Amino acid sequence: VAKEKEGAKIEGAVQIAIGVKKELDFPTWYTNANMLDYYSVSGCYILKPWSYSIWEEIQSWFNTEIKELGVQNSYFPMFVSQSVLEREKDHIEGFSPEVAWVTRAGSSDLEEPIAIRPTSETAMYPYYAKWIRSHRDLPLKLNQWNSVVRWEFKNPQPFLRTREFLWQEGHTAHLTKAEADVEVRQILDLYRQVYEDLLAVPVIPGIKTEKEKFAGGLYTTTLEGYIPTSGRGIQAATSHCLGQNFSQPEMFNIFVEDPNDGSKSYVWQNSWGLSTRAIGVMVMVHGDNQGPGASSARSEHSGVIVPCGITAKTTDEQRAQINNACEDLAKTLKKSGIRAKADLRDGYTPGYKFNDWEQKGVPLRLEIGPHDLAKQQTLSVRRDNGVKNPIPLANIGQTVDALLKTIQSDLFARAKEQYDARVVEVTKWEDFVPALDNKCIVAIPWCHTEACEDDIKERSGRAAEPQDERAPSAGAKSLCIPFDHSRWTPIEPSKTKCPACNMDAKHWTLFGRSY
Ligand code: AMP
Repeated sequence: VAKEKEGAKIEGAVQIAIGVKKELDFPTWYTNANMLDYYSVSGCYILKPWSYSIWEEIQSWFNTEIKELGVQNSYFPMFVSQSVLEREKDHIEGFSPEVAWVTRAGSSDLEEPIAIRPTSETAMYPYYAKWIRSHRDLPLKLNQWNSVVRWEFKNPQPFLRTREFLWQEGHTAHLTKAEADVEVRQILDLYRQVYEDLLAVPVIPGIKTEKEKFAGGLYTTTLEGYIPTSGRGIQAATSHCLGQNFSQPEMFNIFVEDPNDGSKSYVWQNSWGLSTRAIGVMVMVHGDNQGPGASSARSEHSGVIVPCGITAKTTDEQRAQINNACEDLAKTLKKSGIRAKADLRDGYTPGYKFNDWEQKGVPLRLEIGPHDLAKQQTLSVRRDNGVKNPIPLANIGQTVDALLKTIQSDLFARAKEQYDARVVEVTKWEDFVPALDNKCIVAIPWCHTEACEDDIKERSGRAAEPQDERAPSAGAKSLCIPFDHSRWTPIEPSKTKCPACNMDAKHWTLFGRSY
């Protein structure tokens, strides 16, 4: 740890992972791989082009999907007045410890401090009240791509927990609860596709407990991810049904006349968000000793082409032929929609280039040397497993496309197997903490009471060594009640007991140490 960069030390970021040394090096990876840099304000980080390009990919995919659902993008200011921010009691109670305030402009104090949005419900809903005049204005579905500020006091960590972070926040208003419920699940499934299909990261969808739900909402659905090196769970994305809490007269007073009976009908609202945390989760799931690595699923380039076999004896003409072949190959692949790049940098050996791209997590390397040129082939080398195969240049677009898809599905399968193996069924309390210590997420038949949830957190954290209070908690939180509980023994009403308190079990619930 001593050799960690000074910046990393300031941020306390080295505490990101627990375990053997080779698994400690996320901060070094991030900086070596040019993904991120540390910043002079604690808890804030610079997203360099490598990671920002992943964000752009997520944006582009997600935008297309939400537009299909009739969602439109818009932009609201980042400042929220105090009176508006504090209108919903539970909401502000949940967020107030993390709100940053502007109190001064130049040398004069502001008459009233202005909040920087930690999320935009309160910034947007006064205008929803203004714009929604009739049931014909429903559903209203707006999204914005923006940054929010939450002055987190827990240990800040690159991507996972930052004080300013990029996200999208969708805010919709509906006439009926049924319509809102459907959308909550549609969006959650889009988030699942972002993680599983785009980033090759497995997640478990479920619902949050009352204690863990979004402040001021009715219920929260979530995707829970898992970080193998630390054995911790991570909330990957959330889709909330806010119910009618924000539309009530004493809140934002958003109503229409019911088209059926003319009565006053307060709108049903949802909000949903996915942040740049996703990039960190991807890297932590797929990284290896070589660097952030096989996270290649979405690396800036999906294939790099490296000229090889050039020696002192190679003539200028041969060299030009090889370089041209590399460039032609990159062009052909780009035509097939593959993010290819020919690395023709002078003065770097092929070995240096191999290493450089491996560290950056490019999934596929294609080598072309004199021998390959003669045979009209290229040597493909997979980043994830090192397997090498010559492939013919004829039809190369199709072959490489198929190969990249195989790499992607192999990455996902490997991560899923790892996650599945670390979700263990526990029915006796004695097994609970040892399972956590063994880097597992624990599934218990749970009584679903908040007192028991608090007690589990307290008891499971007790045995652990004293911790820096800003470090991630040693006690286990409820992560979610998974929608799919088919893998566990069915709960028998009045018979199956909660292993933590011995009361009747209600639902299989995941508990874990988390970020
Ligand atoms: P929320 O509005 O609190 O449900 O947050 C929406 C999503 O943003 C969460 O599911 C997290 O994945 C992510 N998120 C929350 N806090 C942070 C943070 N400090 N840094 C990065 N991502 C965050």
